[in-house]
Amino acid sequence: MKLTTVVTCFLLSSMCLLALFTFTHQPLEKGQKYSRRPRDKLLGGLLTEEFDEESCLSRYHSSFYRKPSPHKPSQYLLSKLRSYEMLHKRCGPGTKAYKEATKILGHHDSMSRSVGECKYIVWLAVYGLGNRILTLSSLFLYALLTGRIILLDQRTDINSLFCEPFPGTSWLLPLDFPLTDQLDSFNKNGSHCYGTMLKNHTIKWTTRDNNIPSYLCLYLIHDYEDHDKMFFCERDQNLIRQVPWLVFNANLYFIPSLWLIPSYQTELNKLFPQRDTVFHHLGRYLFHPTNKVWGMITRSYNTYLSRADETLGIQVRVLTKPAGYFQHVMNQILACTKGEKLLPEVAATESKVTNTSTRPKLISVLVTSLYPEYSENLRTMYWEGPSSTGDMVQVYQPSQEMYQQTDKRLHDQKALAEIYLLSLTDKLVTSNSSTFGYVSQGLGGLRPWILYKPKNQKNPCVKAISMEPCFLRAPIYGCQAKTVKITRFVRPCEDRLTGLKLVDSANEL
Ligand code: GDP
Repeated sequence: MKLTTVVTCFLLSSMCLLALFTFTHQPLEKGQKYSRRPRDKLLGGLLTEEFDEESCLSRYHSSFYRKPSPHKPSQYLLSKLRSYEMLHKRCGPGTKAYKEATKILGHHDSMSRSVGECKYIVWLAVYGLGNRILTLSSLFLYALLTGRIILLDQRTDINSLFCEPFPGTSWLLPLDFPLTDQLDSFNKNGSHCYGTMLKNHTIKWTTRDNNIPSYLCLYLIHDYEDHDKMFFCERDQNLIRQVPWLVFNANLYFIPSLWLIPSYQTELNKLFPQRDTVFHHLGRYLFHPTNKVWGMITRSYNTYLSRADETLGIQVRVLTKPAGYFQHVMNQILACTKGEKLLPEVAATESKVTNTSTRPKLISVLVTSLYPEYSENLRTMYWEGPSSTGDMVQVYQPSQEMYQQTDKRLHDQKALAEIYLLSLTDKLVTSNSSTFGYVSQGLGGLRPWILYKPKNQKNPCVKAISMEPCFLRAPIYGCQAKTVKITRFVRPCEDRLTGLKLVDSANEL
């Protein structure tokens, strides 16, 4: 074969490969066959370029599927993230510093033997995926504020859900961590938990130097009590800050209350001048679905959402016992989508269709629920009768798992795929008090319509005041009672009056 022939063949095959890559890695776009536009791959600088692309496709490909965010992260947040990444490299698993720091565990004279710059937060995997994602982001922000690094208990399937977010290191707590056997005892009334220790007088907020323990557990689960809530008090933070290892047993998004601790306020204002973007930025920085989950997301997106003129996500979480299909919940969904003009009505007869447009819109509705009936009813409704506007309504529900099966790998992967898919829709309806919905709205930068608790309100749903998740059990009566009342950017949640959420300063009264 001549050299020119070889070169031509090589060039042609490279082009074919390139075309194939573009074809397989980019989604179909509305009104456009294939997306070729390079987008904001690093999400406004949130992400570094240090990772290789193939090991975690979602990291750099999310920008092909998600509209660019109108909310830009502050330069201060970006520089803080880069410093955090360096700290994690110096202190993370496998380093000399990590080895030294684990040696002191269990010694009560730890502070006299300094741990240097490395201090740690250990995250325990408890409750559903939405809860886990929200506590992880809360702990990550707490780590940024206090100069610690975060390590994740990997005994569950977290590794099969998310890629590593920090370059050149790992966020997984090594399985031979000296306290592994004790982690499950860090529960309510656990003798190493700060609240219990306060109650039993085995620690005081005035504790100093040689009496500082080498580790502490913090119990921040929804049924926590007054002594556990002391975590949110300035004077207790002064002590907790000195403890080398903090193990959190938490299921709450507690960021709004960090804002009410005076010593963190200045820093938080610099990190997030637009206060309702905390989870939006941290969530997109931290959570990159693994290739397995990304495949589920992109296949669904390309098949059911990409060609639509409009997309609507409806997240149906039934928290009553027994849970399942209820006609009053279905009625509420219909009343909300009709009342807020999120979906067209169904016309009584074909002749009642009003639209004269030559090109009717395609509206894709993504329903997520453990139960199949909600989406089936919606789909049937738009099949049996025409939409009053002449628009076409397509309804899609990726899975029907029937009951919560947390820690079953494929179940959790489906849950993550659905949370992410909801976040890719144009408009979103969520169920009250559900962390599953909170994560979707935050990632997507969406202010959802929240379905009220059935029968609680006259209106079926309300538009959220911000895209931030709600801290469902905020400590509103303790040391923060006064500050809560006067801080305008922290407000009661729409779906939980005793909960707190951050709102943008522009929304201040
Ligand atoms: P929350 O209980 O509504 O606050 O949300 P969580 O995500 O913390 O826990 C609910 C868990 O139930 C999820 O993580 C899933 O395991 C499961 N689940 C609930 N709703 C859905 C759904 O619509 N789709 C899927 N795939 N799983 C769901």
